[in-house]
Amino acid sequence: MNESILEVKGIGEKVAEQLAFMHIYETNDILQYFPYRYDIYEEKPLQELVHDEKVTIKGKVLYNPSLTFFGKKKSRLSFTVEVEGIAVKAIMFNRAFAKKQIQQGQDITLTGKWDAHRLQITVSKYKTGKMEENDSITPVYSLKGDLTSYKFQKLIKQVLDSHVDDITEILPASYLENYKLPERKAAVRTMHFPESRVALKHARRRFIYEEFLLFQLKMQLIRKINRESTKGNEQDYQVNKVESFITSLPFTLTDAQQKALTEILKDMKSAYRMNRLLQGDVGSGKTAVAAICLYAAVTAGKQGALMVPTEILAEQHFQSFQTMLEGRADVALLTGSVKGKKRKELTRQIENQEIDIVIGTHALIQEDVLFKALGLAIVDEQHRFGVAQRRTLRDKGLDPDVLFMTATPIPRTLAITTFGDMDVSIINQLPSGRKEIETLWVKENMFERILDFIQERVKQGEQAYIISPLIEESDKLDIQNAVDLYHQLTAYYDNEMEIGLMHGRLSSAEKDEVMRDFADNRVKVLVSTTVVEVGVNVPNATVMVIYDAERFGLSQLHQLRGRVGRGSKQSYCILIAEPKGEVGKERMRIMSETSDGFELSEQDLQLRGPGDFFGRKQSGMPEFKVADMVHDYRALETARQDAQHIVENNLLQSEDYKYLKEILSEEEGLLEKLD
Ligand code: ADP
Ligand code: MG
Repeated sequence: MNESILEVKGIGEKVAEQLAFMHIYETNDILQYFPYRYDIYEEKPLQELVHDEKVTIKGKVLYNPSLTFFGKKKSRLSFTVEVEGIAVKAIMFNRAFAKKQIQQGQDITLTGKWDAHRLQITVSKYKTGKMEENDSITPVYSLKGDLTSYKFQKLIKQVLDSHVDDITEILPASYLENYKLPERKAAVRTMHFPESRVALKHARRRFIYEEFLLFQLKMQLIRKINRESTKGNEQDYQVNKVESFITSLPFTLTDAQQKALTEILKDMKSAYRMNRLLQGDVGSGKTAVAAICLYAAVTAGKQGALMVPTEILAEQHFQSFQTMLEGRADVALLTGSVKGKKRKELTRQIENQEIDIVIGTHALIQEDVLFKALGLAIVDEQHRFGVAQRRTLRDKGLDPDVLFMTATPIPRTLAITTFGDMDVSIINQLPSGRKEIETLWVKENMFERILDFIQERVKQGEQAYIISPLIEESDKLDIQNAVDLYHQLTAYYDNEMEIGLMHGRLSSAEKDEVMRDFADNRVKVLVSTTVVEVGVNVPNATVMVIYDAERFGLSQLHQLRGRVGRGSKQSYCILIAEPKGEVGKERMRIMSETSDGFELSEQDLQLRGPGDFFGRKQSGMPEFKVADMVHDYRALETARQDAQHIVENNLLQSEDYKYLKEILSEEEGLLEKLD
């Protein structure tokens, strides 16, 4: 039951108008308008109080306060309080009226800033008389207009008292029991009027779980609808051929690769249309897994497509796929540089299935590219593509299976929330025998020493990248910086070695040329803007220098660092940074100490918060009222498992779940599809 806020006694048009600013229109709205935080001051023994911190102490007033005036209308009230047998001085500014209320012999609780040297408290809040426990917990609401906190709480109390029976339990009783969660009615009351810290903790726990469960149910329902709304695409691949291909590779798969592969192949074989995310750290061997899956599709009589974000990458993958799949499948490269007649011929071959596997950039999703039998579409570095682009690729075939790959490990919590409608495979292991990259954080005045170090490495036959300084929001100045740095290096090395220059304004032919020169070790040092970030593979490069490292997020730094350490030689990553803030410094420290991409991404999330994680504000990120996906990730995991169980077993149809179902049915078109 839910009625207009105007039905509540004592709430008139004027108050209703103010509440409307806070999107409160009905009784349920106000009951669920929870405080956004609670000020909790715990009393502690004097000994444990920290100088300059906000504290709460309890004592007896020793003498009546004395009041002095100074300046215009300014006053100072001071009195002495006995706490644990010690005299503590209390002062209060500009609250002359309190003089009458504070009297010798009274019990008093004081909250304020503690001066440990003078045993003195500057009081911001006081309460005379015996204190009950809840007095130290103050709910803080986000209010609009001239509603005061006091008035708002009075309103809530009124609504609670008159409408408490309208609050219905939506979770099945077994859940409350299993997780020891308080009932909804009691929990709502506690959120507004916490009787104790423990009670508040449990009430919050309840709403965190409730929010996550509803959210996860939604995700799982969408996932189920997606699965069941598509026709079957059973790819009956030939196991012996796939196995023989795996044996032909110059290495054995890691256990993690093997596990991911098994999960993907199982999806491909099933009638469901695969919608899966493959996460793996830089260099964990995702490309090899992709090649095996694409080949599996070919043995099932289908075609495969691999879409990557840059031409450089497309070309690199094309070359390695050709070598790997020699004699097994026909592989073609389709990028923006393939034009005119050549392109026409290629698209004709794709349409006739004369080509088995196409590797390309977004050129792959142009209208003229039609597949005869697209069985598997793989999108590499998926975060580089927009949702629309991803969907177009998917629509190219008759419900092809789709695999997204990313080397930017997405923290588990974010993966669950943003990709909750996908299945996720993880390669959390690097091939053995890799040497850990040594990461150093230095200041800019070390630059010459870095250049000398690079020269030494080059003498040993190795190569280096230097990522040029960044200018915020200015592509043009970034390029200017790269050009300047390029000239600076050429002068410094006195033309002794070949320096390359790479930036976004070069044509793709020019980029390819620079990249090829670097890959073939003609160019020794490559000065570049961040365009080399993704996927580039030059195993002979052992030094990565990053200017303005504090400007990057951890995940991006990790990507850049991943360009080295790809061969057997010891590699180095040098971060040039002079961060001003603590977060920047922390980031440099973490980079120097951590090489695990998943751990970094978790830390990045902690430092930047979910909104910033993907670089720019990610739309479609869910907002929770009580829950916090980073802090409460355990509850999120639990809710996800429960939601999966509920959806898989069709439990929403049963009586215990009818309220959950009711809430979900308010979402556009979710439930009628499932009934
Ligand atoms: P990712 O795409 O995940 O960054 P790649 O697939 O490019 O990683 O693999 C990085 C390098 O490791 C490649 O040179 C690849 O040949 C090699 N590699 C892949 N899997 C293995 C393995 N199981 N054992 C040894 N080397 C491997
Ligand atoms: Mg890769």
